[in-house]
Amino acid sequence: MKQVLTVSCKIQVSPEQSIKIDATLQSFASACEYVNQTVPTTLTNELAMQSLVYYDVRDRFGLSAQLAIHAIRRVSGNRKTAKKDGKPVKNFAPTSVTYDPRIFSFREKDWTVSLTTTSGRERFKLAIGNYQIGLLKGQTPKTATLVKRKDGTYYLNIQLESMPPEPIKTDSVLGCDLGRTDIVVTSEGDKFSGKEITKVRNHYAKLRANLQQKATRGSRCTRRRCRELLKRLSGKEKRFQVLVNHTISHRLISRAKLSNQAIGLEDLTGIREHTNQQPRSKKERRLSNSWAFYQLRQFLVYKAIKHGVKILFVDPRYTSQTCHNCNHIHPVRGESYRSGKTFKCGHCGWRGDADLNGSKNIAALGVFVNKPEGSRLFCNIADHLRAIESPHCTCTQGSVG
Ligand SMILES: [Zn+2]
Repeated sequence: MKQVLTVSCKIQVSPEQSIKIDATLQSFASACEYVNQTVPTTLTNELAMQSLVYYDVRDRFGLSAQLAIHAIRRVSGNRKTAKKDGKPVKNFAPTSVTYDPRIFSFREKDWTVSLTTTSGRERFKLAIGNYQIGLLKGQTPKTATLVKRKDGTYYLNIQLESMPPEPIKTDSVLGCDLGRTDIVVTSEGDKFSGKEITKVRNHYAKLRANLQQKATRGSRCTRRRCRELLKRLSGKEKRFQVLVNHTISHRLISRAKLSNQAIGLEDLTGIREHTNQQPRSKKERRLSNSWAFYQLRQFLVYKAIKHGVKILFVDPRYTSQTCHNCNHIHPVRGESYRSGKTFKCGHCGWRGDADLNGSKNIAALGVFVNKPEGSRLFCNIADHLRAIESPHCTCTQGSVG
């Protein structure tokens, strides 16, 4: 299975070049907008769309052949996802353009890239650190996306394809239970506490509440200033969460690799579709709706593939209810041996951390589904990947990889 790694590189842009890039971004967005409005809304096939508007798009927006094709492709792609989600296609903002080998090239000898704009080809120096240099060395990237960030800086997100190592064969599984009080508890009893994170979160929540109040009540100038601060705050909180998720997933994968284990996770992919048939537990609801957990799972999956660690997904239905020691579930429907963070088995008397119990169940189920004959409990990794899109990682400067 191929894995795509996105390397985010800041590019140095002179004032004259920035005019050219902005014009290209604008033309690209206008072209998308035009395609979306001109082509009948039911049409999503890229080639069919191309045959209708290609020459029109090239004439009107001064785009090169490839850029015109990418604009049409983007509308087609957005329409397909919009159709799947049942939402209309959003407006196209002049913030990004897609590049392929015909309109983009990377030169390692002076760390530059050349990009086609609406007024010809331009060369840009990459302003990157050792991390990006290490990743790009010896590579011939085929695709990239030019992005203008909110602060006016330009980045080129370069996509690198690699063939990850074959996963290590093993019978041992490290079960990982994702929660909130503890973000992760492993079947070996290691914990990644959520305490510090909750503290930081509460701190931000307080700040936000305070600012929101001022943003509605203060003088006009204060209101504007507060709105700006709020925006900055949300970015800060997000970056903090990304760092935490990178760190945790990195440690878990390293641990599994060192001790030659597979990683066991609860399979939460089907949960959204099941909502109407089965009552969902509080935990399932929280985990499937929270982007932070979603991201942690994504990071775990892509890092596992990268390092040749096998990931096993197990049926989550009974992982929190069953006693890992004697495999008993509370006999009364609706009752549970679990109460909050503690689990107290009424059959064998085992007592301990509920998440530890969960992770031990995940590990046990993982061993079971790892058997060559397989089982119904096994969730195909390919299905899972499709469900959570491709395991992309955007490693920006300064973040951990
Ligand atoms: Zn028991």
